Amino acid sequence: MEIIFLGTSSAVHSKERNHPSIALKAFGDVMLFDCGEGTQRQMLHTKVSPMKISRIFISHLHGDHILGLPGLLQSLGLQDREEKLTIYGPRGLSKVKDAIYNFGYCKFDFPIDFIEIGTEIIEETDEYIIRSQSVRHNVPSLAYSIEEKKKPRFLREKAIELGIPVGPAFGRLHNGEEVEVNGKIIKPEQVLGEPRKGIKITYSGDTRPCEEMIELAAQRGIADKFHFPGFMKGKQVYETFRDSDVYVMPSVSEPFGISPLEAMQCGVPSIISKQSGCAEILDKCIKTDYWDIHAMADAMYSICTNEGLYEYLKVEGIKEVDEITWEKVGLRIRKCYDETIERFNKH
Ligand SMILES: [Zn+2]
Repeated sequence: MEIIFLGTSSAVHSKERNHPSIALKAFGDVMLFDCGEGTQRQMLHTKVSPMKISRIFISHLHGDHILGLPGLLQSLGLQDREEKLTIYGPRGLSKVKDAIYNFGYCKFDFPIDFIEIGTEIIEETDEYIIRSQSVRHNVPSLAYSIEEKKKPRFLREKAIELGIPVGPAFGRLHNGEEVEVNGKIIKPEQVLGEPRKGIKITYSGDTRPCEEMIELAAQRGIADKFHFPGFMKGKQVYETFRDSDVYVMPSVSEPFGISPLEAMQCGVPSIISKQSGCAEILDKCIKTDYWDIHAMADAMYSICTNEGLYEYLKVEGIKEVDEITWEKVGLRIRKCYDETIERFNKH
């Protein structure tokens, strides 16, 4: 599976970020989630071919999520597309369809299905299941999830031991069918490993925090890996830091940012955004751009797996923060005043 972020801003785009749209390459297919203005041009910067898109899932009908549709559909028509395109979306999608068909001289020679949906299973195959879920916005809005159905591992050695000839019988057993070998029935569970969870991808456009979204995204058995502690004070803060391997402050804008200093004081290697104020005075931590999630993930991984790096940041981090004292800052400010007064007196 591959996720391609074509646009990650909301209604207000910027030079770097387009209106919402995400492409998913999976199961030999390309699916698009939302289609903000400029989506088709964003695709030119990627390896996503608009002609290969089979389905478009629209989260809701606010302009920033759909204004790219008329242009994209028109381009597909110009490229002589013949394959059907299916567009799913919440209640009201049919009005968008009418608007697109009545817009200028738009004409499409390939079949397009516009399907209004609510909370439901949209499609289920042997390989995957696609669900939609109503979420909370000021207009009808949907989240989508695509879940891979992963087959249990096929225990080849065990199959050979049971006398099953290497060949099509392996595939049939892996697909859950019984086979007969020398008058003996072999059941799939005899040659299959533990059940495995496939990848699940959940996409929501705009929503307020809601239980439904949490449920849709959290059926992965990873809830115990996330802690949302809420507001913490005093001792709790230091206890949490001491339980942590890495501290990350990925802030877009932070006038100063005292929390990495607290983490470093507790000996927790820290990663901070270059855009935070404290990045100007801290050196014994890792700095990344706030938008560079790959660099952040690399840094987290390196700290957790490279003992030398972990120790260096831990020990040097404590030293660096211990050097930052009110007294030293006070003395520097006083020096500035003294120099200014001296210069003033000279005139
Ligand atoms: Zn919206």
